[in-house]
Amino acid sequence: LSTRMNIPLDRLQRKMSDLGFEDVDPTYRLSAEDASSVVLEYNMEPIVPNIAGQDIEARPEPEDWSAFPTRPPMVTIMGHVDHGKTTLLDSLRKTSVAAGEAGGITQHIGAFSVLLPSGQRITFMDTPGHAAFSAMRARGAKTTDIVVLVVAADDGIMPQTVEAIKHAKAAEVPIVVAINKCDKQNIDIRAVKEGLLRHEIFLEEHGGEIPAVEVSALTGKGLDELEETIVTMAEVMDLRGDPEGPVEGVVVEAKLVRGRGHVATMLVKRGTLRPGSVIVAGKVWCKVRVMHDENLNVLKEAGPAQPVEVLGWKEIPEAGDEVLEAESEELAKEVIKTRAERAKREEVNTAREVLNEKRAQTRQAHEDAKGTKGEEVKAEAKESREKVLNIILKGDVQGSVEALIDSIGALPAHEVRAHIVDHGVGVVTASDLKMAEATKAKILAFNVKHDKRIQSEAEKSGIEIKQYDIIYRLLEDLRDMLADMLPPEK
Ligand code: GDP
Repeated sequence: LSTRMNIPLDRLQRKMSDLGFEDVDPTYRLSAEDASSVVLEYNMEPIVPNIAGQDIEARPEPEDWSAFPTRPPMVTIMGHVDHGKTTLLDSLRKTSVAAGEAGGITQHIGAFSVLLPSGQRITFMDTPGHAAFSAMRARGAKTTDIVVLVVAADDGIMPQTVEAIKHAKAAEVPIVVAINKCDKQNIDIRAVKEGLLRHEIFLEEHGGEIPAVEVSALTGKGLDELEETIVTMAEVMDLRGDPEGPVEGVVVEAKLVRGRGHVATMLVKRGTLRPGSVIVAGKVWCKVRVMHDENLNVLKEAGPAQPVEVLGWKEIPEAGDEVLEAESEELAKEVIKTRAERAKREEVNTAREVLNEKRAQTRQAHEDAKGTKGEEVKAEAKESREKVLNIILKGDVQGSVEALIDSIGALPAHEVRAHIVDHGVGVVTASDLKMAEATKAKILAFNVKHDKRIQSEAEKSGIEIKQYDIIYRLLEDLRDMLADMLPPEK
């Protein structure tokens, strides 16, 4: 406490004795309340970080999985742009026995399950690409057992192929290579394989452990072999899941759908989800109203590694959020409250720390200025001249909002910079307008349309709402807005 308050220990001890504490020595244990009252005596604000509310956590993993039933592998498709990831996903979806029966009408819900003639299943993540993979991983959500690395036979190893290899290796996820577009003429499969070798992809035929399958996502050739290869790999990995006990899972995609409310696709990782189950993800809870698969078949149960779209969320959870089952609605609400309070507290604490740091820096700068140079004062003055463009970001799905945040963060920030004061999934709302008014922010809306009422309210308050349907356009426009704020050249 003495260090935190920057008060010499002996003075703090004396003060505490004056306040009536007995036998104060450096090992004296202060309760949070006592510490707070001491801090207040010094006219400082105490920070009490512990929130004693209720929360729930995932259960510890069993040490021995061998007694549990096997589960389908969860597979992510990665590879260079235009090498056929989307086409491959589409074709794989159609290979499902179940999809065949249902007439093959499928919806993009973030993940889908393929039922093979053998009765085995594979779960594919529906969003190809590295951003989704690493975003999930960054949030600690393990949603991939196997990576399918797509390499177009007519193009070979390209920069994003190399990037995908890096991601998969960093995550220690085994790879199966799908050499795609094998229906094309004049392709050199051997050259592709040699290229892979140069990036330390040791294929089985070269004595390594990585299988390679020649496919055509377009004609469907080789897809059954690819699926069999995945299933064999999964068998060797001996993937097992626990269908009993409280549900644990992860949100893979979430959105607001007109007429259906807040909808989120999740992968169940443990337990079995059923209608009526109460689940919590981040700061949102849900009483499962309806659940269905990508063919819009209503499901009564969803077990380990099964993707399922869930209706009944009170708000939109975030992709990558851990999903946990609560025993009751009361507990779920309590957990949400605890988490919200904790988040608020953390925010306040961080804000305070930043403020204190700034104060200390200013003090230091003043002292230095009194000394010889005063460089830091100048530096700080320069910083405060930096212009900031406040923006509020709204998007149709979590994925696009996250991609935008990343891209905006990567924009050059010299003299002027964009600051995202708020972001979210869904249409522009009245509360966004309030926020925009308070922070003098522009609202950038990606792939979402707001109604006339909001538009006229915005106009009345002088708030600009800009709409885009191409990420690139939004970024270009933002770059222009920032450029306009630059001071004229002298
Ligand atoms: P992504 O960017 O990796 O998702 O690639 P796409 O799936 O969008 O495919 C890019 C282009 O390659 C499209 O024009 C596809 O029709 C084409 N394509 C994908 N797979 C094959 C294939 O197996 N054979 C041929 N000939 N073309 C393919």
